[in-house]
Amino acid sequence: MTPKYRCWAEIDLDALRENLAWIRHRVGPDVRVMAVVKADAYGHGLKPIAGLMMQSGADLFGVANLTEARTIRSVGKGWPVLMLGACLPEEVEIAVRDRVMPTISSTEEARAFSAGAIKAHCTMDVHLKVDTGMGRLGVGPPQAAELAKTIQSLPGLRLQGLYTHFSSAEDDAEFSRRQAETFHRVVAELEKLGIEVPMIHANNSAALLHESKTVHDCVRPGLLVYGIIPPGKRMGADSVLQRQIHPALSWKCRVSLVKEVRRGTPLSYGHAFVSRRRMKVATLTAGYGDGYPRAGSDRAFTLVGGVRCRVLGRVTMDQLLADVSKVPEVANGDEAVLIGRQSGQEITVTDVAGWCGTVPWEILTGITYRVPRLYRGGHAA
Ligand SMILES: *Cc1c(COP(=O)(O)O)cnc(C)c1O
Repeated sequence: MTPKYRCWAEIDLDALRENLAWIRHRVGPDVRVMAVVKADAYGHGLKPIAGLMMQSGADLFGVANLTEARTIRSVGKGWPVLMLGACLPEEVEIAVRDRVMPTISSTEEARAFSAGAIKAHCTMDVHLKVDTGMGRLGVGPPQAAELAKTIQSLPGLRLQGLYTHFSSAEDDAEFSRRQAETFHRVVAELEKLGIEVPMIHANNSAALLHESKTVHDCVRPGLLVYGIIPPGKRMGADSVLQRQIHPALSWKCRVSLVKEVRRGTPLSYGHAFVSRRRMKVATLTAGYGDGYPRAGSDRAFTLVGGVRCRVLGRVTMDQLLADVSKVPEVANGDEAVLIGRQSGQEITVTDVAGWCGTVPWEILTGITYRVPRLYRGGHAA
């Protein structure tokens, strides 16, 4: 039976569990899996997803802020959490209190965490980040060994991790190779200096698929856990994993009105669309207020009655119009699919992102608070 919602997301917890299991299988038992759950677990809902991943073999979590870290702690204690962003000055104390491992790119940050740890009478595990070409966080490769030594010498700090981040692993094999080489040089330099780091990691989802030599001790998949292959030029690269991974999230809404329009009828704001023939138009109960991108106006497709139906005219805040001329029987209240399957047809988040000129990460994290997340499956195996 169709749930009584106007617009909702269905999350298949079994798919998530299987995706994580395939990632685990791929990297082997000695490599830790850090489930990246920033931005409300990529829009899937942090609490239930963190709980499921704790039961399904995630070794640690990657987050973007300390509120997310707290939420994870509220679901289950004991899992290490790495803050992937840089901490703001006033966040240091909170990170220390909650034992969230910070990412360190500078001496200044290292000193701040050392002072915070001393004040709290504890030892903080920290991860040193090296910028091999992303240009966001991380110390320059020539300064990495020096910063590692500084961290080791500062009281209250333990150098628990060393990592880097790929900027274009889904697109650019050559640039990724150079990033990997730079990182390997830093790892070798630290080894030579006798600096032992328990957890060396580099791979996001795309690198997990394409850069097997940089697996090291831990991997950091986000998108792949949720069942989406990072789109890019290297997408076609053969991989068993690509066939085993399944999207966990479907996004649905309803048909709220069906009408026939005559040739020459303008539709929606700005009259960006004018019908060139007689057509059957359905109003659907989703819009940019739910996170459906306005950029999908007149370009994107939805599924109604198992048929691909084009979005007509501008997407509005709460509603959008779709061409249901080819849907034989369509009635008010019918289910429409924005992302997911219907009668053998499928629209993926990557399709929607492509139509809207963006990436699947942005579509998923853009689904707003007013879209209830309904969970299916996930009972302990
Ligand atoms: C978001 C993020 C990831 C996960 O990226 P995906 O492409 O979704 O796998 C990994 N590492 C860092 C540092 C990140 O910020």
